Amino acid sequence: MKLWVNGGLHDAEGALVSVLDHGLTVGDGVFETIKAVEGRPFALEPHLDRLTRSARGLGLPEPDLDEIRRACAAVLEANPMPLGRLRITYTGGVSPLGSDRGDAGPTVVVALGPTKRRPDTTAVITVPWVRNERSALTGLKTTSYAENVVALARAGEQGASEALFGNTVGRLCEGTGSNVFVVLDGQLHTPPLASGCLAGITRALTVEWTGAHETDLPLDVLERADEVFLTSTLRDVQAVHRVDGRELPGAPGPVTAKAMRIFAERAAQM
Ligand code: PLP
Repeated sequence: MKLWVNGGLHDAEGALVSVLDHGLTVGDGVFETIKAVEGRPFALEPHLDRLTRSARGLGLPEPDLDEIRRACAAVLEANPMPLGRLRITYTGGVSPLGSDRGDAGPTVVVALGPTKRRPDTTAVITVPWVRNERSALTGLKTTSYAENVVALARAGEQGASEALFGNTVGRLCEGTGSNVFVVLDGQLHTPPLASGCLAGITRALTVEWTGAHETDLPLDVLERADEVFLTSTLRDVQAVHRVDGRELPGAPGPVTAKAMRIFAERAAQM
C-alpha cells in the first residue's frame, strides 16, 4: 500500500509523521473520508471545500488543494481497488512540546483502504451524551473524534452499527459518522445544521434530490417516526430497522426505498 505524506508517495510501512505532530498530541487536525469507485473519487470537490472550511475553523493554514488533488490521484493510481475509502488528514504539523503550533508547516496525509458496500438496513441506538451545537468545533470535521469512538463502541455492545446524539437542548442531531433522516406522516425530515450536525455531503445531496425538509426535531421523534435512515459517504442511504429497542418492521419503508433508489441513480451519473 502506498500513501502520500507531505509532498510524495511512500510505502505505508516507511511513511513517517513526527511524534510531536500537533494532530497527534492535541488533535489539532481535520480530515475527510471520500468514497472511490473504480479509482474515481466521489464528490471530491465538496469534500475539499469542507476540508478547507474545517481547517479555517481550527485556524490551520489554508490547505494546498492542488497538492491534495494530486495526492488523491497518485494514491488512487498506486493502489487500484474496486471500492475504496480515501482518507485525507491535515494537521497543524510538528510543534515543540507544549500547546503552540510549530512553524514547520502543516502535515498532509492521504491514504486509501478497501471498503465494502454496507448492508441495506442496520440497527442504531441513541446515547445519553450530547453534541454541543454551540461549540468552537461545531460543524468542523476534526480529528478529535474520541467521543464518537466511545459512542460507536457503545452501539457495538448493543448489536447496533451507529449511535445517534441529541444536542444540548434535546433536539435530534446526528450519528457518530452519519446524518439522520426521519419520515413523519409520509414527509421526509432531517435536522438543520443549527442542530450542531456536520454538513454531510451525502446529506446535502439527499436533501437536494429528495426535497427533504430541514426541521428542528426532538430526540424522541425516533420513538414515533415511521421510517428512519442514515446517510454518509460509506453508507450512501442506509435504512434503519431498529432504534434502541424499537423495531421498524419492513425497513426500508417506501420513502426510504425511494431515497435509496434516487441516490443510487443520481450518484451513478456524477
Ligand atoms: N456526521 C459526522 C459526525 C461524520 O463524521 C460524518 C462523516 O464521516 C457524517 C455526519 C456524514 O457526512 P458525509 O455524508 O459527508 O460522509
